[in-house]
Amino acid sequence: MPSKTNTQDPCLSSPSEPARPIAAALEEKDFSQSWQDHLRYSLAKDEFSATRIDWYVSLALAIRDRLVNRWIRTQQTYYEKDAKRIYYLSMEFLIGRSLGNALINLGLSDAAQNAYAEITKVLKKTKHAKALEEFGKALEDIEEKEPNAALGNGGLGRLAACFLDSMATLELPAYGYGIRYDFGIFFQKIQGGYQVETPDNWLRYGNPWELARPEGIYRVQFYGHVHQYHDDKGILKTDWVETEQVMAMAYDTPVPGYQNNTVNNIRLWAAKATREFEFGYFNDGDYEKAVSNKVHTEIISKVLYPNDSMSQGKELRLKQEHFFVSASLQDIVGRYKKTHDINFDCFPDKVAIQLNDTHPAIAVAELMRILLDHEGLSWDKAWSITVNTFAYTNHTVLPEALEKWSVDLMGSVLPRHLQIIYEINHRFLQLIRQVFPGDEQRVMRMSLIEEGSPKNVRMAFLAIVGSHSVNGVSELHTEIIKSTPSLFKDFYELWPEKFNAKTNGITQRRWLLLCNPSLSKIISDKIGSEWVTDLYKLRKLAKFADDKDFQKLWQKAKRESKQRLADYIAKNNNLKVNVNSMFDFQVKRIHEYKRQLLNVLHVIWRYNQIKTNPSANFAPRTVIFAGKAAPGYFIAKLLIKLINNVADVINHDEQIGDKLKVVFLENYSVSLAEIIMPASDLSEQISTAGTEASGTGNMKFALNGALTIGTLDGANIEIMEEVSAENMFLFGLNAEQVLELKNSGYSPRKYYEEDAALKHVIDMIQNGYFCSPAEPGLFQPIINNLLGEDKFLLLADFRDYLRAQLEVDETYKNKEAWTKKSILNVANMGRFSSDRTIQEYAEEIWSAKPVSITFNGRSKKSKPKKNG
Ligand SMILES: *Cc1c(COP(=O)(O)O)cnc(C)c1O
Repeated sequence: MPSKTNTQDPCLSSPSEPARPIAAALEEKDFSQSWQDHLRYSLAKDEFSATRIDWYVSLALAIRDRLVNRWIRTQQTYYEKDAKRIYYLSMEFLIGRSLGNALINLGLSDAAQNAYAEITKVLKKTKHAKALEEFGKALEDIEEKEPNAALGNGGLGRLAACFLDSMATLELPAYGYGIRYDFGIFFQKIQGGYQVETPDNWLRYGNPWELARPEGIYRVQFYGHVHQYHDDKGILKTDWVETEQVMAMAYDTPVPGYQNNTVNNIRLWAAKATREFEFGYFNDGDYEKAVSNKVHTEIISKVLYPNDSMSQGKELRLKQEHFFVSASLQDIVGRYKKTHDINFDCFPDKVAIQLNDTHPAIAVAELMRILLDHEGLSWDKAWSITVNTFAYTNHTVLPEALEKWSVDLMGSVLPRHLQIIYEINHRFLQLIRQVFPGDEQRVMRMSLIEEGSPKNVRMAFLAIVGSHSVNGVSELHTEIIKSTPSLFKDFYELWPEKFNAKTNGITQRRWLLLCNPSLSKIISDKIGSEWVTDLYKLRKLAKFADDKDFQKLWQKAKRESKQRLADYIAKNNNLKVNVNSMFDFQVKRIHEYKRQLLNVLHVIWRYNQIKTNPSANFAPRTVIFAGKAAPGYFIAKLLIKLINNVADVINHDEQIGDKLKVVFLENYSVSLAEIIMPASDLSEQISTAGTEASGTGNMKFALNGALTIGTLDGANIEIMEEVSAENMFLFGLNAEQVLELKNSGYSPRKYYEEDAALKHVIDMIQNGYFCSPAEPGLFQPIINNLLGEDKFLLLADFRDYLRAQLEVDETYKNKEAWTKKSILNVANMGRFSSDRTIQEYAEEIWSAKPVSITFNGRSKKSKPKKNG
């Protein structure tokens, strides 16, 4: 083990091994040749037998070759420099496709296009029709064969993916840790208007981006019991014994930064049966049982739970959480111990661990367990290291999303962790009694253990107590978690300095440069391409907002993207939509708080208006929905059926024509979002104020030139601060007014009785206007919600929503005014780059510094002149 020699910084180790020379031959190899070589030598196919998937896999392998040396060099450099590492622990990484992103980040887009053209030529000469057909008409055809890495539900998982991109681009020594699910988020099909789920077997054809690390394997324990005893020196020892054991095997995927030499790593864990386990039964002669138990064990990493903003409390989920946390912490501690003294004094100076929501919060207890039981540290020392290492991000205020695990379940699955949590709680409650003497109510409220039957462990409280930083994901959301009694108000009063806001962001590399080449090009032609790594540079566009020629180019780019989506809709929905109509989108998970139903009420209202007054001067609209509902979320699934039934009625009404069309696009995913965002005119961000923690869909839309119709919720407020209210369509109660209305006794019926048009809309749904005669009462549960509690205040916001929608129409009819607002939205989106978000995390939470990677003597690839 290298010893510490540096006298200035006691935490800086100096590794003894020098940097090794780099083998660069492959970097210089002709790209087209590499691609063809992989087809032949990695897949054993020739150009006649190759399927389009083979062409995709071989292309991905050729690209991966060009990542490998930088990947190795990056990891060497972190080791040599003994850099502080950032570990991002997340149950979800919603990455999508990697190929296009790798091409732009490596600056290989042109090389790939040229190779494609070259191979096309070769295939044409063969006059082999099947071979040509498999190769497709454009590189895009091959890119589309890549399955989405859909290891996430929605915003939270996509945020993790954007963060990885930004951390690599900012040259931060970062690692993502998560689970390699065999099945990602389900595929959504729409059959007879209903959502039908089918499994996402994304690894069916292998995954060319990942590398299995069979040597990177750790034992994870479950169940068993705790054995405490005094050793021969009289010291209390704790063993966790007679456990069930599962192996966690590492799979690594490279994460390239944008045109620098950094290639970070995301390490996903797959569950494998232990060999003892298999051999045990085998030796007993029960071969079949050995194999079936292996299957049973490996179920841990089988499938992503498809619930967004909802904790189900299933045992297997708890096992998943502990599985990936334990493997990750063993890996992290092991990496630290390679180059540092085992007293762990410097651990928080070298290691920052971010908990993406409470899903990995058991890490607080697991790190304590490792430091106490394995490393022999004292409680106080282990606790100080733990708190200084962890930071926690809260993502939601919905009560049903706050994770709780019953004490009984945790005591069974993780008995030692429960014991540690009780000890953490004991010491924590002592502190509360010191700071707030005599306030036993407060002690009850803040306890990590919720009394009742069953007793529960409150995972958010564990995360807060065990971390030095707690952040919300927008300014409003942070204020809400600090001030709401049922959330973290008590904790804010105890530790105000722990709480901070880190407004979410998105990576402009994927969400503009890659997904919207036509808009990217006219932007870069006008103001240069620095925005790709400094999104604030988009401000330079503002002065062209009135420029007629630039407006024309802007409209043309938007039209191209709308045409592309219209083609997609024609193909997938068998519906012709008018590209001159306004494309109005609400795409996100289907959830009551997001209020897709409010959108539907408006659509039906509009339909009625057009029917009664055919000459009314509405701007033609295509209203487009997409989003998955959790399979067990009855009302969300019924809402999908309602949207499809409403679409069916309106789209087949000849009186309506182009004035209104309604579309539900099935299987919302990252790659579908990449087609949708560029084609958007209007972005619906209409959650009840105070419920959407941040939103990132709102940012993707605005960055692609959509105008937002929205409430003062989450990051919408900050978008307003940047682009100004006059360039958006804001409506509805604000978060404070929502609270007031709820406290003063909200009566949705009153709105229904007093608003004839609203009443008509609701009555139509209730009276079966959108139902087949066979199922007249189909939507009654939706009506009961609306006229009963209307928990998310749809009726209270309905009229003001209509007002804002009419403003949208008026503005859209004035093309110049609309285009100007669109340009100004894009020009003012600088703040919403995840680069800015990550910079803030790095400076204010992690104290982590960038490390530049030198590769072949160069510290950065020379900047390309044009974008891409
Ligand atoms: C961005 C994104 C989301 C999050 O959308 P919100 O509108 O912020 O809820 C969900 N799913 C996918 C596929 C996304 O790309």
